Amino acid sequence: MPRTSPPRKTPEQLRRARSLLAALKRRHPDAHCELHWTQPHELLVATILSAQSTDVGVNRATPALFAAFPTPAHYAAASPDAIAPFLRTLNFWRNKARAVHESMRAVHERFGGEVPRTMDALLTLRGVARKTANVVLGNAFGMNEGVVVDTHVGRLALRMGLSRHTDPGKVEQDLMALFPRKDWCLLSHLLIFHGRRACKARGGACASDALCRRFCSESAKPVRKTAKPKRPSTSRAPRHQAATRQRPSRRSD
Ligand code: SF4
Repeated sequence: MPRTSPPRKTPEQLRRARSLLAALKRRHPDAHCELHWTQPHELLVATILSAQSTDVGVNRATPALFAAFPTPAHYAAASPDAIAPFLRTLNFWRNKARAVHESMRAVHERFGGEVPRTMDALLTLRGVARKTANVVLGNAFGMNEGVVVDTHVGRLALRMGLSRHTDPGKVEQDLMALFPRKDWCLLSHLLIFHGRRACKARGGACASDALCRRFCSESAKPVRKTAKPKRPSTSRAPRHQAATRQRPSRRSD
């Protein structure tokens, strides 16, 4: 972790964080991990695959993968080339096939086929950083070692004034200092749910969402506009097109 001592928070910041947590729980009572899995190693694999890919996309790819490789031993006995065809619909599928193979081989050879239950051990696996380790520890083992900071959590933490940072490690430290440890895993689900349903990257439900109006200073600002695709300007149009615009035909027919 980048820091050894957690950042200090004022009583007012802590009160606000607790109120926000309660409001998020009321707003998203069904918040949960949206990756599909039944065994800890499946969650580990699915989370490795979710980097730069949507959970929906991962959930489409994993049923066939999990059926073909039911245990870490099956991955270990295979090769990245045998795993790769199952991941072709995902970004960076070749790298992910290597990461899945190496991490599952390590689980099989170094941890007796069981996904390790400590942050330090998980971080030794290929393709596993704190975010993935937090997902596995929190959801597969009910252990709150940290807070998952993905793109949604980072964005909402900034917009809702929970952190001034963009570095995920520092955002995580701020969230750990603000919220009760027992809620760390749920907190990330709540923020991700709100991020997917209300506070989207290109503009949120700023003025219309009651929770946003109460907790986010952005809600008082003019409505965010979704970025529109840029139209090519005349000056950048291909020369033959620009010439056509500048010299209208003189023909009258
Ligand atoms: S007010 Fe807007 S920016 Fe703030 S959390 Fe809600 S949707 Fe996101």
